Amino acid sequence: METQTKTLLEVKNLNIEYAASNGTVHAVSDVSFTLGRGEILGLAGESGCGKSTLAYGLTRLLRPPALITGGEVLYYPREERARQTRLKEPVDILELSASQLRKFRWNEVSIVFQSAMNALNPVLTIGAQIDDVLRTHRPDMGSAARKSRAIELLDQVGISAERIKSYPHELSGGMRQRAVIAIALALSPELIVMDEPTTALDVVVQREILQLISKLCKEFSTALIFITHDLSLLLELSDSIAIMYAGKMIEKASSEAVYLHPRHPYSYGLLHSFPSLHGPQRRMVGIPGSPPDLRTLPSGCAFHPRCPFAFERCQTVEPVLQVAQAELPGQLVACHLYDQGEAPSSSDFAQKFESMSEGVSA
Ligand code: SF4
Repeated sequence: METQTKTLLEVKNLNIEYAASNGTVHAVSDVSFTLGRGEILGLAGESGCGKSTLAYGLTRLLRPPALITGGEVLYYPREERARQTRLKEPVDILELSASQLRKFRWNEVSIVFQSAMNALNPVLTIGAQIDDVLRTHRPDMGSAARKSRAIELLDQVGISAERIKSYPHELSGGMRQRAVIAIALALSPELIVMDEPTTALDVVVQREILQLISKLCKEFSTALIFITHDLSLLLELSDSIAIMYAGKMIEKASSEAVYLHPRHPYSYGLLHSFPSLHGPQRRMVGIPGSPPDLRTLPSGCAFHPRCPFAFERCQTVEPVLQVAQAELPGQLVACHLYDQGEAPSSSDFAQKFESMSEGVSA
């Protein structure tokens, strides 16, 4: 079936909460989206919007007090993998047993965390850490084959073979991040989740790593979920972008559509809060106010206290993710401005935001 060949991941109505003594934190609320094979999806939003919780929820890496309270995360393995692992497709990741999950991670989905120094074991060489993954998940592989695979992986991420004996502290920040990417690629997973992998790097190294990630994903048809608070990074890297606010997905569209015509007022503000890595300079406007407390969300649209377009309905009725305009079926937005199928123009966005902000030249 068409859907089974193209769709890799289908997230349906996912809800994740943190139980806190002073109230329940609704970190991820009713999030649904699909990810195609080989697709690069950028997940953006301010700190605390739920993007990392969403990614860790998908991969079952959350620990108490986080709790998945509802939804499905359906994964469609390739036919030969489904046969090998005896998993019936689609696999609901949330239903996997502990032993199924151990096989599933690294083989199907691997994760790259924010700080490479924390992700790597400081007392093991880079080679030993790659070998560790291969030995655990490929017990039939001999030591010579594992060493050869480790060298191949290092080469793919631009690290020379002699570095196989280096310890993490002997490598630069950029090289450590490359080594972590090599480990993530070790078992040729279908999906890699990267949580702010370039945040601690300077802009030059950051750009090199982004180019490397893009090249490798294309070369191996690996799907990627790339999380960042910096929307401008995603514009070059991603096929599509999902923007989160207060635990909800409020816009999802192709990268180009988000760059040229962001539809949600928050997406517009986020896009104009960072200087562009390339292209013409644009006026930075920022977003007034701060993100809401996830224990006591505002009524209606959670963005309404900060939104320059807010009107009466926004305070009482929560908008749902829907097609922004009939002629743009791939652009989904959760905003009442589109309830009647009409959209504000780019100059409307600029005027409204600039009237709420002093403005800073990029
Ligand atoms: Fe602004 Fe209303 Fe749209 Fe929310 S629903 S983003 S408050 S216009």
